[in-house]
Amino acid sequence: QSTSPMIVVANRLPFVVAKDPKTGNYIRKQSAGGLVTAVAPVVVETEGMWVGWSGLHIEDDTFAIPESSPDDNSPTAGLKSEQVIPVNLPRKLFDDYYNGCCNACFWPLFHSMPDRAIFEEDKWDAYREVNEEFAKLVIQAVHKSYKKTPDRIPLVWIHDYHLMYAANYIRDTCNDEGLEVKMAFFLHIPFPSWDIIRLFPWADELLQGILGCDSVGFHLEDYCLNFIDCCHRKLGCRIDRQRMLIEHNKRTVSVHTLPISIPYERFVKMAEEAPVVMKASPEQLLLAVDRLDYTKGLVHRFKAFERLLEKYPEHVEKVNLFQVAVPSRTDVKEYQELKEEIDKLIGQINGRFSTPNWSPIRYIYGCITQAQLAAFYRDASVALVTPLRDGMNLVAKEFVACQTREPGVLVLSPFAGAGVTMQEALMVNPYEINHFADVMHRALTMPKDERELRMKQLRRREKERDVNFWLRNVLKSADCLGDESGESK
Ligand code: UDP
Repeated sequence: QSTSPMIVVANRLPFVVAKDPKTGNYIRKQSAGGLVTAVAPVVVETEGMWVGWSGLHIEDDTFAIPESSPDDNSPTAGLKSEQVIPVNLPRKLFDDYYNGCCNACFWPLFHSMPDRAIFEEDKWDAYREVNEEFAKLVIQAVHKSYKKTPDRIPLVWIHDYHLMYAANYIRDTCNDEGLEVKMAFFLHIPFPSWDIIRLFPWADELLQGILGCDSVGFHLEDYCLNFIDCCHRKLGCRIDRQRMLIEHNKRTVSVHTLPISIPYERFVKMAEEAPVVMKASPEQLLLAVDRLDYTKGLVHRFKAFERLLEKYPEHVEKVNLFQVAVPSRTDVKEYQELKEEIDKLIGQINGRFSTPNWSPIRYIYGCITQAQLAAFYRDASVALVTPLRDGMNLVAKEFVACQTREPGVLVLSPFAGAGVTMQEALMVNPYEINHFADVMHRALTMPKDERELRMKQLRRREKERDVNFWLRNVLKSADCLGDESGESK
């Protein structure tokens, strides 16, 4: 039980606000993410708030967040409209911030692909301006929180690479206005090494932005150490690597390893309830599920699959690679080009190896529900989670949670955050195409007892360290969890 009202600050609200085409009224549309499922109930319980962009550019001053509908049984249903604080931004400013800075600069840079990153001062200006807009609404939320529960210090929990600059503004204003707050930041993507961060021309401001918080969390210890190193080298902060502490502006900022996870039991249940997708097929299914993004290594994976069919022809007519690629950032040229490359490659491979009764690759360019995914996760022989770089990767965890029947094999890239803990997976460097094909072959032919042993260990760990475990640790690291007796600290 958290002892502080939790004010979540994220790029997006926990649901999408859209206009009902029939009535013309605004309604809530649910998003199914594990993060929202875990965090929204804490916001409800603690009488907190959620600050984020609604998904709309609204010019109408009378706009208000709609209440949840009576039949809404989603995790956000308990959030009253007064607990949801929409950030409204002009289209051009939002585009410069979101596409120009977050996606064209921070996304590739933080995934250690600096050649793809574009550094433009006006986009960075837009980023700071938008972060300040978010910060102003957070201050209002803090005031509201104190009005409601004057004796409870709120926890402002800032999320991800969209909002790395908001904390200092919040801190300074709260200091000026005599408001006490706790502030935590969590980064959902990797934090790269100093050698990469130093390429960003305004790295000092960026680091200072994050250091506005009291506690900072990353998925992996490596990301924590990178951040600490950057603060030391760029800002000259005194640091304690052992205890993961940074001194900045006469304050101490604590840094924490907090690997995010999934609602494990929810996936088990979905897998148990889902209808069979493989029927009585003699074919083995290799499953891959990604947003269509250059960090996910789709091209490398298809090339390795082609090599598998060349090198091990016994798999021809016996296996299927099923790729779900979720459209992402479709208005960006780089992503459109990637889609074209993938379409072409799949066409070539299918053209080359198909027989009258069989095609090697099945491909969905679109999104399926998690309930549908659960059936594929359960029935797949092999899951290929092989990004070139990924903060964590939840698909790897969802796959093992759903392996409730015949045990399959997880093939995992060490460049995904999940690769650090999920040691029993078959690890593969996705850049090493030939070896990648060998690993796929090994996964497809692995004896049952070995599959069982590996999967049992993987499942045990993910069950223990699910998303609620992560959330408890976040609250602990922010000093917001009551002690064993339930007393607040
Ligand atoms: N997902 C989904 N439908 C799809 C494909 C993916 O709901 O058709 C979900 C999947 O269950 C997972 C998330 O999208 O929870 C992807 O998360 P991940 O951490 O693997 O990658 P990200 O997209 O955040 O980089």
